[in-house]
Amino acid sequence: MFINYETFRRQADAVREKIAEACRQARRNPSEVRLLAVTKTHPPAAVEYAARYGLEAVGENRVQEAVSKRAQCTAAIRWELIGHLQSNKAALAAAHFDRVQSVDCLKLLTHLDRAAGELGRRLPVLLQINAGHDPDKFGAEPAETTGLLEAALALPHLQVDGLMTIAPLSDNPAVAQRTFVALRTLRDELTARTGAPLRELSMGMTGDLAIAVAEGSTLVRVGTALFGTREQPPGFRVASPAEPP
Ligand SMILES: *Cc1c(COP(=O)(O)O)cnc(C)c1O
Repeated sequence: MFINYETFRRQADAVREKIAEACRQARRNPSEVRLLAVTKTHPPAAVEYAARYGLEAVGENRVQEAVSKRAQCTAAIRWELIGHLQSNKAALAAAHFDRVQSVDCLKLLTHLDRAAGELGRRLPVLLQINAGHDPDKFGAEPAETTGLLEAALALPHLQVDGLMTIAPLSDNPAVAQRTFVALRTLRDELTARTGAPLRELSMGMTGDLAIAVAEGSTLVRVGTALFGTREQPPGFRVASPAEPP
């Protein structure tokens, strides 16, 4: 059964306190760091909770799931796509999301730009960077980012707000820290080179949000700490020794 609102409120208060504490340690103003509630795999109630609590946006990682969830929600809240996007779903994404954080190649940029143009809108995006050089993660390689950004800045129907990254999964906090420093450094270089402010640094999740805030995150994407653990996707099974194959 899904959590009730009181449980959510308590968990959200705890996440906000964690962000505030990380800001105090880093001598940052807590108003510089916003909280994106990651509602993937959770019911529409998760979105309603986030809106009632006063959060501005939710994050979903699959287009289809978000489209059907959004149709069931009355909450006034912004929807952001944080999961991998294929070019053939660009038009659907441009129509149903307020921002796409997972833009990592030229083909996707051009498809999103065309779709946004057809909708008569300017679509905010983030460039997703594989700042941790993780073979398991999507995202543009840092070395190819200048070209990608220059292409994005030339497209009339996209607005590049900043960069996004996912740290490699690791028990060693230094891995996440190195990844977040790399993203911030890359942003500073890109801003110096192109003049684009790239204000948004979307980095940090449940397990590494304090490190991300210390390294300059402006947006932490949090699911588990707000809503509890997610169920595994359909078809996912862990082989257990007690279970014959
Ligand atoms: C699922 C997801 C999150 C949230 O992860 P938690 O560990 O549950 O906080 C953040 N960012 C992306 C891109 C995700 O897919």
